[in-house]
Amino acid sequence: MKLTKTDFKKYLICPECLWLEKKKPEEFKGGEITDFLKKLIKDGYEVEDKVQEIFPSGVFLDDKEDEVLIQKTKEELKNKGTIFQATFKSERGLFLKVDVFKFNEKTKKWDLYEVKSSSEIKTDLQHNHIKDIAFQKITVEECGLEVGNSYIVHLNRDYIRKGDLDLSKLFVFEEVSEKIDEVREEVKLQIESALELLKRDAINTSFCSCLYKSAGQRCDCFSYFNPQVPEYSTAHILRGKKLQELIEDNIFDPKDIPEDFELTDPQRIKVQLQKIGRPIIDVIDIQETIGKLQYPLYFLDYETLLKPIPVLDGYNPNSQLVFQYSLHIMQKDGTLEHFEYLAKDLENSTLGLVKSLKENIGKVGSVLVWYEPFEKTRNIELGKLHPEYAEFFKDINNRVYDLMKIFKKDYLMPEFKGSASIKKVLPVLVPELSYKSLNVQDGTMAMSAWEEMLNTNDKEKIIQLRKDLLTYCELDTKAMVEIFKVVNSL
Ligand code: SF4
Repeated sequence: MKLTKTDFKKYLICPECLWLEKKKPEEFKGGEITDFLKKLIKDGYEVEDKVQEIFPSGVFLDDKEDEVLIQKTKEELKNKGTIFQATFKSERGLFLKVDVFKFNEKTKKWDLYEVKSSSEIKTDLQHNHIKDIAFQKITVEECGLEVGNSYIVHLNRDYIRKGDLDLSKLFVFEEVSEKIDEVREEVKLQIESALELLKRDAINTSFCSCLYKSAGQRCDCFSYFNPQVPEYSTAHILRGKKLQELIEDNIFDPKDIPEDFELTDPQRIKVQLQKIGRPIIDVIDIQETIGKLQYPLYFLDYETLLKPIPVLDGYNPNSQLVFQYSLHIMQKDGTLEHFEYLAKDLENSTLGLVKSLKENIGKVGSVLVWYEPFEKTRNIELGKLHPEYAEFFKDINNRVYDLMKIFKKDYLMPEFKGSASIKKVLPVLVPELSYKSLNVQDGTMAMSAWEEMLNTNDKEKIIQLRKDLLTYCELDTKAMVEIFKVVNSL
């Protein structure tokens, strides 16, 4: 029996899910290492590396075999120093690697340090940092060692980089020993339940508790436990008591909702959409909206690099650095021009981008984006970073129109399955435009491609990555242009 720290965290999120992963891996959906997950893991290692610099005498333990690591840990413990990745397995199978394990000369006990890439201690279901470190303390104690202080080391959200990284300000060391004590008994019981669960060869798989939750709260395993629920279900439209009422009547498909069931207007439209199976389009509203836009129309999209450790002066931890834009400009007669910028290096990335944008966005005309909070927030940040352009970005934000809004209210199709995401709308309205054949297909891939472009000396690779990035970002604004043409032709 083995219960790793990762298993325990998964158990806290959902016991059924952990059981399925461990006992029926062939049925388990959700184990896929996505590009986004790979990026998070890589970022996590970068943060750990920086924390290790704070402990210069630390010894890093490395081996592919857990048993070898456990042996190496036993040896290293004798030196009473600082160990990175000290590895423990208790008799009943609790297993973990400690980020930093340091002998405290004053207390003669071992201090635990858990490193997080976040800018705060999180206690929500997905992240519960306190229970995470409590599991560590319990495991280490079961292995016969006395733990003194326990720390969560996270990034300091108020730190702004200026020159070389100041590690003493970049990280916050929060002592959480008391907080661990508060949850210790609860965590012990949860560990026992998790171990019991993993001994079982069968559980009730005919139901899981997310049946009563809205669709966004369910995980990829939902369909295994609830095969009677269609992919697009009542939970995509309703929540709370109304959803519960329908579930109790075995109604899962929006098409089966009775006509006299009480719904709000937006809910009724979504249900009708599924029942009639045809688009619902408010042409008058759309024409009125489009009529208010001012030509030329600027279709704008940014690509950003999100890094826990600030890579440039002026940035906080976990902030987004804009390194690329694509801009299509449409005149009233339909004439289209395309402009773009992709930073070649890190140092001049945003200033070069801002200058280029200023040259290409005139003083008049609406700026169309898809999901305005993203571009508007980046504009505010760029204005702060380059105060001489603050007014320019303020003006752009005043001229922004979010094209997505039309697909939230006025242009609804059953195929969108209740979503207004461009990734859902584009294949339905403009199927000839697709991301599928591109080397870069989403924002996470764009981040990785740009990082790779900056870090390689291979000229051919740089040319290819540059081409991939430009093609991807151009498609983002081209997609908006073509979708706009569809709604403009109504
Ligand atoms: S959908 Fe089911 S399996 Fe997934 S988290 Fe919710 S309860 Fe667990």
